Amino acid sequence: MTVDDSKIDRYAVVGHPVKHSRSPMIQQFFAQETGENMSYGLLDASPDDFEVVVRGFGASGGKGLNITVPHKQAAFELATELGQAAVCSGAVNTLTFRTDGTIRGDNTDGIGFMKDLTVNQAQKIAGKRILILGAGGATRGILAPLLDAEPAEVLLANRTLERALTLVKEFETTIDFSACSFEDLAEREPFEIVINATSAGVRGEAPPFPPSCVSSISFCYDLTYGLEGTPFNAWARKHGSERTVQGWGMLVEQAAASFEIWRGTRPDTADILSKISV
Ligand code: NDP
Repeated sequence: MTVDDSKIDRYAVVGHPVKHSRSPMIQQFFAQETGENMSYGLLDASPDDFEVVVRGFGASGGKGLNITVPHKQAAFELATELGQAAVCSGAVNTLTFRTDGTIRGDNTDGIGFMKDLTVNQAQKIAGKRILILGAGGATRGILAPLLDAEPAEVLLANRTLERALTLVKEFETTIDFSACSFEDLAEREPFEIVINATSAGVRGEAPPFPPSCVSSISFCYDLTYGLEGTPFNAWARKHGSERTVQGWGMLVEQAAASFEIWRGTRPDTADILSKISV
């Protein structure tokens, strides 16, 4: 029996660089598990080429795209209709091409992060003191659902203080939510949940966070993931944290949420999580 390619719904992830992305492996696993007839590829597009590549994919019948670094804000601008999480974060990681020519933009990073943190990792957020390191696109995506879960405090520390201060001003919340520099953290007590949302680990770096912000009470979550562990988690364990996790769970859960938007069916994530997590 031959397969008619024209009947297979096409999806892909767009990034720059993108060749190391695990999204094709995860989405193909979901497609097999749910019996959905779809393909999922990789598209490398520089910032200058992003719009042409995305519109070309949609015009040729492509059904949807995941968007990764550095295009999430450009995808937000390109979408003609936005989901609530995309509006809150100012960033889009999931585009859906509709038959009427509209392009829907969603952000599933926050849903994926919260599912992993609160369900897979069984962390309670309400009443906790939380430190987020980094104030880029990923932090934008996770902030709204994190603040909604009513922690006692969220402190945002960033290398470029101005960027963290701007982000704090954008969110209206009754939660104690403020920004500081990495150096200012030396004055603070250890936090109960510490989230590394800097991209330093991608280059193998552990930035100079003051060790006083972690201790044995700290659950440390690194959004970065790697087969050999991450520099941030090694740093956190060295300074007393007894529980550290990488962002594999977030990666899988945000992919599952994108898959559900596109296909209307929710894949089971437990099986792939047990294979992929380290
Ligand atoms: P951005 O490029 O938008 O932001 C990068 C952030 O990291 C900024 O706050 C930047 O600070 C900081 N940073 C970069 N290098 C250093 C350094 N050497 N020392 C200190 N701070 C540094 O990236 P994203 O927010 O999109 O992604 C952040 C990380 O999260 C990446 O590693 C990405 O792979 C990961 N991620 C994981 C996901 C998952 O599913 N697990 C989903 C989304 C992201 P400054 O403002 O000063 O430049």
